[in-house]
Amino acid sequence: MKESTETLEPLEIRLSEDGESLEIDWSDGHTTHTRLYNLRWQCPCAECSGEMGYRGRLATVSELPPDEYVLTGVAPIGRYALAPVWQSGHDSGLYTYNQLRYLCECPEHAAERDAMGATGRTGA
Ligand SMILES: [Zn+2]
Repeated sequence: MKESTETLEPLEIRLSEDGESLEIDWSDGHTTHTRLYNLRWQCPCAECSGEMGYRGRLATVSELPPDEYVLTGVAPIGRYALAPVWQSGHDSGLYTYNQLRYLCECPEHAAERDAMGATGRTGA
């Protein structure tokens, strides 16, 4: 694998065949897969994940209505993030490219994550 200084970009964004995952083809050749369910629960917006010491909605409920898991679109935010649009109308969660890469559930990325976790620890 060669190092690239090019900006990482999503080339194609689509739903998986079973309609349950978001698939993104990236400019470096990787394709990430993230289940919509998990994507929704990782929503980084203030309403969902809280801010400034307030707990977000996701910390106070154990389930969301079905229309919160149906993806109706994905809006590009500048050249660094994507905002999934859910059927409920919720669209304030901005997922940066790095975050989307991190959320990938394929075995290859899971292994990468584990490796990063293992080496990312700083000794005490
Ligand atoms: Zn949210």
